Amino acid sequence: MFHGREIKRVVVKVGTSTLTHQSGHLNMQRIDHLCRVLSDIKNSGIDVVLVTSGAITAGVNKLKLKKRPEDIKGKQAAASVGQSELMFLYDKFFSQYGYTVAQLLLTKSVTEDPQLRENVTNTLETLLNLGAIPVINENDAVAVEEIVYGDNDMLSAVTANLINADLLIILSDIDGLYEENPSENPDARLIAVVDEITPDIEAVAGGSVSGVGTGGMVTKINAAKFAVPHGTDVVIANGDRPEHLYEIIEGKPVGTLFKGVR
Ligand code: GLU
Repeated sequence: MFHGREIKRVVVKVGTSTLTHQSGHLNMQRIDHLCRVLSDIKNSGIDVVLVTSGAITAGVNKLKLKKRPEDIKGKQAAASVGQSELMFLYDKFFSQYGYTVAQLLLTKSVTEDPQLRENVTNTLETLLNLGAIPVINENDAVAVEEIVYGDNDMLSAVTANLINADLLIILSDIDGLYEENPSENPDARLIAVVDEITPDIEAVAGGSVSGVGTGGMVTKINAAKFAVPHGTDVVIANGDRPEHLYEIIEGKPVGTLFKGVR
């Protein structure tokens, strides 16, 4: 039970930093572990949708580039190569735990057009009815919003809205929202619960940094600001240990909870 209510649908967003070793290569053990925990959550009767980054990283490795491209078109090209590699891995790992994946490449603009929004909602609902696990990334060949700024944070909030998710979990390389920047003040305190996203909370987020991913805390707060008014609870937590997802769904105090408006 999650803070007095049953979770029926969860969107989990995982960023590049969580999926990647410091060396810049994909962290296979982490991806496998994540797939195992998500499959188990699905086994418990909860609908799971995964929003994932990592396509650029996978493409950089596959193309044997010495470093991540700095220009947008280079990133888009790398993502196009890496997306199939990423899906190959998700397909392989989820299959191992008995689940079928579906790839959806979305852009935020799709959800702003009523017809396209209805189409994608129908696809998602049908996939969930079929018992599949939708795996979503931004369509990096045609949209650059999340490459430039966001690392899929907003896309995950939009997805949560599309399927009326009870809970959105944003996994990052930081434990949650801190009162101060923890890399500057090691005694900075983690904020456990945010009842309302006030200007003070936004100011706190502006001062914090979350490592290697494109999206920092600001884009995560913006995602929470989008999801919370639609009644979705949002948890920002560290993705280093995927089993934290069990604790989050049980309502245990992990990361920072932004309470959905009800
Ligand atoms: N959609 C991009 C990817 O999957 C976002 C990554 C990023 O901005 O770090 O690689």
